[in-house]
Amino acid sequence: MNYKNITVAGSGVLGSQIAFQTAFHGFNVTVYDINDEALEKAKERIEKLKGRYQEDLKATEEEVNAAYDRMSFYSDLAKAVSEADLAIEAIPEVVQIKTDFYKKLGEIAPEKTIFATNSSTLLPSQFAEATGRPEKFLALHFANEIWLNNTAEVMKHPGTDMKVFDEVIEFAKAIGMVALPLHKEQPGYILNSLLVPLLDAAEMLLVREVADVETIDKTWMIATGAPKGPFAILDVVGITTAYNIVHAKAEATGNEEMKKLAKLLKTEYIDKGKLGTATGEGFYTYPNPSYMDPDFLKN
Ligand code: NAD
Repeated sequence: MNYKNITVAGSGVLGSQIAFQTAFHGFNVTVYDINDEALEKAKERIEKLKGRYQEDLKATEEEVNAAYDRMSFYSDLAKAVSEADLAIEAIPEVVQIKTDFYKKLGEIAPEKTIFATNSSTLLPSQFAEATGRPEKFLALHFANEIWLNNTAEVMKHPGTDMKVFDEVIEFAKAIGMVALPLHKEQPGYILNSLLVPLLDAAEMLLVREVADVETIDKTWMIATGAPKGPFAILDVVGITTAYNIVHAKAEATGNEEMKKLAKLLKTEYIDKGKLGTATGEGFYTYPNPSYMDPDFLKN
């Protein structure tokens, strides 16, 4: 892997983080977004990230400033990618927006440029044709707060060249990620393939009034040795996200239990401002949630 110049397209929540993390590890980064206003917002986000890297990673002011100096910002896609070895896409999770973007990118990027999507729910094969270079395209999926939650799920689609797959794995390691190769396409990658069914099952136990939040979490924690149960995880994910998923499933299926669960999350949590760790209260209250009490795992 001899990548030097990386483009990050879309400089929102994840794009800003990917761009800064990449620059922090010594790469030249061009950031692309649709207009100057979006780029200004990205610069504000990156200012905040500098503080987080100093706080969380004990990075020095010199190091975060040097990372920023390796970044440049463009609202002209052709200029942004003119020297890119790799272009990482983190634009909205909307099929049409991504398809249009890949068509344009495929036409104007140099032949050498590898394309990677950070999409959470869409599969790379959906866009492979639009890129015009399916063999040089794959998914590279990060988690929010990537400097702390440093997983990089690297996922092929059937047409991805193995050399490209291996190079992107090396790149992910080079920017401080733990690279997790997925050899076949899988909706939800590895993490959400495991996590979503667990969280769904926990919510169902609650809505069916089988057991309360603490009993469900306690069972999981004692039996598997996990540091958190599903409801503690839901507090981190955020109750709004949990509600949006449940609400969409209830609408799509008409399932009565799903409807009841959506209503419970809305009236008992969201309407009361209990959105999870972000607001200091969700299923637990923070900073000292009961599940962290040494007695929690006892009778
Ligand atoms: P976001 O809404 O915060 O940012 C999207 C950015 O894309 C904005 O800056 C917007 O101006 C820009 N944009 C809009 N249209 C564009 C276009 N045509 N070309 C270029 N830029 C355009 O979104 P986000 O949360 O950063 O998510 C971006 C991608 O990352 C999605 O595919 C999402 O699934 C994925 N992702 C998000 C998270 C997360 O926790 N937020 C985690 C992993 C992956």
